[in-house]
This record gives sequence, C-alpha cells and structure tokens, in this order.
Amino acid sequence: MNNILSQSATPEEQKAQIAKILVVDDEIELQRLIKQRFRKNIRAKEFDFVFVQNGIEALNKLKQEGHIDVVLTDINMPEMDGLTLLGELSDIDDNIKAVVLSAYGDLTNIRTAMNRGAFDFLTKPIDFQDLETTIRKTLQFVQKMRKKQEQIEKMYAQLEYDAVHDALTGLPNRILLDNLLQHNISYAERYPDYLYAVLFIDLDRFKVVNDSLGHSVGDSLLAAVAERLKVSVRGSDTVARFGGDEFVILLEELNNIHEVISITKRIQQKFNQAFLLNEYEIHLGASIGIALSTRQYQKADELLRDADAAMYCAKAKGQNQYVIFDPTIQASAMERLQLENKLRQAIEREDFSLYYQPIIEVTTGYLSGFEALIRWFTPDGSISPSKFIPVAEETGLITPLGWWVFQEACRQLQDWRNKFPQQQSLLLNINFSTIQLKQSDLLENIQAILDATQLPGSSLKLEITESCLLENSEAQIQVLQELKDLGINICIDDFGTGYSSLSRLHEFPIDTLKIDRSFVTRMESNLGGLEMVKMIIALAHSLNMNVVAEGVETETQLQQLKALGCEFAQGYFLAKPLDKVAAEEFLQRSGVGE
Ligand code: C2E
Ligand code: CA
Ligand code: CA
Repeated sequence: MNNILSQSATPEEQKAQIAKILVVDDEIELQRLIKQRFRKNIRAKEFDFVFVQNGIEALNKLKQEGHIDVVLTDINMPEMDGLTLLGELSDIDDNIKAVVLSAYGDLTNIRTAMNRGAFDFLTKPIDFQDLETTIRKTLQFVQKMRKKQEQIEKMYAQLEYDAVHDALTGLPNRILLDNLLQHNISYAERYPDYLYAVLFIDLDRFKVVNDSLGHSVGDSLLAAVAERLKVSVRGSDTVARFGGDEFVILLEELNNIHEVISITKRIQQKFNQAFLLNEYEIHLGASIGIALSTRQYQKADELLRDADAAMYCAKAKGQNQYVIFDPTIQASAMERLQLENKLRQAIEREDFSLYYQPIIEVTTGYLSGFEALIRWFTPDGSISPSKFIPVAEETGLITPLGWWVFQEACRQLQDWRNKFPQQQSLLLNINFSTIQLKQSDLLENIQAILDATQLPGSSLKLEITESCLLENSEAQIQVLQELKDLGINICIDDFGTGYSSLSRLHEFPIDTLKIDRSFVTRMESNLGGLEMVKMIIALAHSLNMNVVAEGVETETQLQQLKALGCEFAQGYFLAKPLDKVAAEEFLQRSGVGE
C-alpha cells in the first residue's frame, strides 16, 4: 500500500496523520458515492472525509477543525461558489491545497481556478480512480510542503535561540541576560520587597591556562566551568556567559541577603576541586563581585557595572574571593580605569625609567649582573610595577612597554660595556611577560635590537615566569630554543610559586631558576622555606641549571644559601634596585665574576 503516512508513527501520531479531506459540494449524491468508493480507505484510517455544502460552510469548518489536508470543491454552489472559496482559502492557510471538481470544465474556469491556487481540476462525472490518484498526489505535495515549512520554522527557532545563547557553553548570552536583568529591575520597582542579586564571576588564572595549554583546552575548560556553575545554583537561577572567562549569575526570588552569601560560597567551593582535562589537572579560582537589588537599580548596565567593580576588588584580595558592591568600590574601579589611561599616555611619552638591581655571585661576592626593573615616577609619586604591569598585561599595553624596556636595557648595557671594557661578561636580566613571548615578530625585533646595539645575545638573560612552562605546545619550546640560539639565557622567575610540572622541566632550554622571595624569607624560620630552597637547588643542579635567590635581606640568609650551594643572590641585603648613575658607580667598584 502506498500510504504516504510514515510507517514508524505511533498510534496517536497515526490518528493525527489520517488525511482529512473536506468535500465542498451541494450535491448530496456525491457524499454517498465518495463514502461508498472510499469505504476501504476510511476503514483503514487512511482518509477521513468531512462534507459541507457551500463555501461559507467550508470556511466555518476550516476554522473549527483547524487541520484539513485537502479540499475538494465544486464550483457552482449557493451562498459562496468554489472559485470565491479558492481565493479565501489561500488567506487562511497556504498549506491547504484544493482540487476543483466541476461539470464546467471549460478553459476559463480552469484558468481562474488555477490562478487562485487550485492544485488540480477534475471534471464531473467523476472518475473515482482518477480522484483517488489525485487525492494521493495532492497529499504528497502537502506533506512535502509542510515538512519544508517545519524545517524553516526549526531553522528560525534555532537562529532565535543562537542569537541569545553562547555557542561554546550553551549558556544564555549577554543579550538574554540583559533582558532578564531588566525584567527583574522592573519587577523590583513594582514590588519593593522583591530581592535579587547579580554575581559577576571572573576566573582566576584562566589567562595563564589559555595562553599556555592552548585555546582548545581553554574552550573545554570554559565548558566545564559552565557545567560546574550550573550545578551550584538553584534551578530558578540563571548562569550566563558574559564573554571570555567572565560569567554572570542572576539569583532571583531571594528570601534574604544571607542566601546570596551561601550560594556564593557554594560556587567557590566547587572550584576547590581541580578540573581534569586532557590529563591536565587544572586549578582555577573564581573571583566574584556581587551587586544586590537593595541598591535599587534602574538599568541592567548599572547592575553589571557595579558587580564588575566588586569583582575587581575581589581579584585584588587574592584568588577565589568575593566582594559585595558598595559605593567605595566604584572609586577603586574608577582608579583602575584612570591608571589604564595614564599608562597609555605614559607609554607614548616614555615616562618610565629603569632601575638596576645587582645580582651577586655568592661564593666570591662579585657582581654577576643586574636585573632591570621598570620604574614609573609621576608628579603624584611613583607607581609600583606590581600595580601597573598587571594592568599593562591585561590591556595589551605590555607589548609597547616591554619593547621600550628591552631597548632601553640593551642601550644601557651597551653603554656600560663601552665604558668598562673589562666587564664584558656582565649580564643584564630583563623581565619578560608571557604575553610578550607570544608575539609573532619577537625574534626579529630582538635580533634588530641586538644588531643595533651590537650586543651578543649571551649578555642578556630573559626572566620569564613559571606559567610559561605550562605550555605543552611545541611552539613554546621552539620559541625558547630560538632565543637560546641567539645566545640569550633563560631564567625562570619566582620559581616555586607556579604550578609547572617538574617532570617536564628538562624539556625546556633553561639556564637559571630564580627562587621566589617567599621561600628565602621563610628560610630562617621553621616554615619549610629551607627545605624548599634545598630542593629547588638540588633539582636545578640535576638539570644543569644554576640558581639565584631573590629577596635576600639578611646575612643569615646569604650564609644559608652559600651552604646550600646556591650560585647567585639578589636582595636588599646586597643592594637595592639602583638608578643608572648609582648602578654605574656600583659597577665601577665591583669586580665581575667569570
Ligand atoms: P620580580 O621580577 O620578582 O622583581 C623583584 C621584585 O622584588 C622587585 O620589585 C624588587 O624591587 C623587589 N626586591 C628586590 N630585592 C628585594 C628584597 O630584598 N626584599 C623585598 N621585599 N623586595 C625586593 P619591583 O621592582 O617593584 O617589581 C615588581 C614586579 O614587577 C617584578 O617582580 C616583575 O614581575 C614586575 N616587573 C618589574 N619590571 C618589569 C619589566 O620591565 N617588565 C615586566 N614584564 N615586568 C616587570
Ligand atoms: Ca624578575
Ligand atoms: Ca621574582
């Protein structure tokens, strides 16, 4: 049987899919004939016929029944004829197809019927075999058309959905969030007791992971974070992706403000557990800024602005912290923005200078080299690099700033090498942020500066942070290798504070490990600093690397380091960072270790 109904349909679906045919004819005899001829099909629940006697009745029936697949209509009828009905039909539903049955098969009628959207035209007396074939053909067409229509509707629905959801995580995006926030704001205006809150979440350390493990791991991580956030809130709350590694949670219908804190803590607890991705164990924190409806917001933007400002404060407190917005916070957010603007101007005007902190060979006390440290003096006092370097890194300003440092440091070293020809082995350490290492023109630029200053690469040492080592991509090792090929030395700064996988340390072409000041500080007490320093030195030596300890502030620390075989030391006990004049005097007084 060539039933056009799908074979796999359930009984209910089949019922819904019985082809419903509306017969419009004032000739009662036709009803009887159709019922008789199609008895089989009716019994097999293939066709279902509904009979009316003119166009008006047909239109009423269509409105009542809703679902009609095919209309068979006569032309000559009282009240409303078939040709008028055809015109009306297309207004109701384009998906209903009509077949005209008429004794008046003249060309004018046929043309008019076709022009008004008739699917076919059969002349009376009716050939029932032909009628059945025509009904089937029409149904097939209608089904096809409906399927197409459904596909289009589905596509539209998908487009609509996509427009307000984030593709990576499937979470609502900014647009939908904005809508929901606005909705809550209006509701709170009408019902002053209504409480809601917005949590602005920024992932701690995500940048490091993304830069070092690559974007695909970064993407998977964001998806995993989205999942974790979703399970930490109630069903009625909304988790949205704001962009990058920023998420926003809208907590609706809160009973009291304490609830916000307990939910926030629950979210942060979820981050205590590491994320496992591609055999990496990734520890992330979530800095959370909170804006509460009690501040009577009027715009979604204001809510987000305050939650964002509170988030920055949370970040400043350390990892996995939260802060509830209050007006003093707005001031600090403004300060940050001002700092960014000031930094931009300062870079243009080259308002910076370099200080040089001596690095001493522990056994001989000779000067081994200097670490160049950037200084920013403004009319309102100096601004610490710990404050502005992170802002520069976040805004990309580190690129021009970094090149200024590099150029200035090289120029200074060239100057000293000319003035003190006996000090050709003097090293200059330059801090390099991870972002700088990613620049595509890195090597060309360095080569150009080396050429211009006629410095051998071997007189430079780049200090990079441990997070660079997280990089699993060959490209990263390649960059370091190419720097080494220029003769440049590589030092891992703040060693021990990151989370580099020690087992992979040997894969990187590293010359020096710089022990973080926090361990050196703890050496004299019983806080495990000594053990840690001992271990780092042993590790470095086993990999043919040498060690420099930073932040040496006492004689005892220096002696301890000496006893442990640490090669170099740097710190206030030996010398503070010096301006170039003072550094030059220091250089003049010192012998240089070979
Ligand atoms: P860092 O590379 O770990 O630099 C060492 C910091 O410790 C310097 O702070 C230095 O002045 C300070 N320091 C040195 N000896 C002692 C000591 O005995 N005790 C104490 N308490 N501190 C000591 P500074 O100059 O404020 O720099 C802070 C950070 O800013 C640097 O940490 C580095 O990460 C970044 N930085 C500085 N200059 C540059 C630069 O030119 N480029 C980049 N990318 N980062 C820089
Ligand atoms: Ca450093
Ligand atoms: Ca350091």
